[in-house]
Amino acid sequence: MNQISRRRLCAALTIGGAWTALPAFGQQKLKVVASFSIVADFVATVGGERIELATLVGPDKDAHTYQPTAGDSRTVAGAQVLVTNGLGFESWADRLAGAAPFKGRRIVATSAVPRERHLADHGHSHGHGHGHSHGKPGGSDPHMWQDVALARRYVGAIAEGLAQADPASADSFRQRAATYDKRLAELDAWVREQIATVPAAKRRVITGHDAFRYFARAYGVTFRAPQGLSTAQEASAKDVATLIQQIRREGIRAIFIENMSSPKLIEQIAREAGGVVGPTLYVDALSAPGGPADSYEKMLRHNVTALVAGMAKN
Ligand SMILES: [Zn+2]
Repeated sequence: MNQISRRRLCAALTIGGAWTALPAFGQQKLKVVASFSIVADFVATVGGERIELATLVGPDKDAHTYQPTAGDSRTVAGAQVLVTNGLGFESWADRLAGAAPFKGRRIVATSAVPRERHLADHGHSHGHGHGHSHGKPGGSDPHMWQDVALARRYVGAIAEGLAQADPASADSFRQRAATYDKRLAELDAWVREQIATVPAAKRRVITGHDAFRYFARAYGVTFRAPQGLSTAQEASAKDVATLIQQIRREGIRAIFIENMSSPKLIEQIAREAGGVVGPTLYVDALSAPGGPADSYEKMLRHNVTALVAGMAKN
């Protein structure tokens, strides 16, 4: 990563409350708030020097269970654009925007993904609603960024939304998005090549919650998790026992903890099932700057490398 993109990334990962001070070029920068670190990286990459970016849920933090602060409310109230994932991933964002109040342009990154490519909320057996429901019943799984092809849709939606909010910078946003889109197309091909090195029968992985269903569909890997679509849903003892039996029966060794949620349950499952806990996967958040997954592209490369090494041991 070169110096310029490193600086941009640090700006992207500034946590709520404080607007990032970037050098002024005599041009009014568009004030943009991103709900969480992964969408913030897309926004920073497309927006470049033309935006001032604040991020509400920073690196290694869990957006499912996040509770906005008074500082977030001030940040959102002062913004011209608010970018979220949508589909109930940040169930607190609408309330925050309403209360701030936020009067600018909303960009919902998943709105660019056509309905037929949504995966339905499959109603995990332990159900929803421990006070942090992730979405409406019958809604869609929000973790679409795990399929690079759908992340490219996010980038398109962000570029168009920013272009509409700041027409004077529209060409810049669209050009940067086009350059980024080429890199993401290469990344998508790289993921396919890597997964193809693992025999199909070995492509089984255990993770903390159901965040990889789009990845599973796109790249042909089976994921199982004790928790459902939101980390706010508790795993039942029965589900955990069933999962442990499956891991033993199928000889699954590829068991992974997540960067932004508690590793305790997965560590317990690995102990009881006789599996080995692999390197941390970056799932619903990037790593801190300088970490192994401080951009979306690095996150995918880190995760896929870890998954392939883990699955090889199955
Ligand atoms: Zn999640």
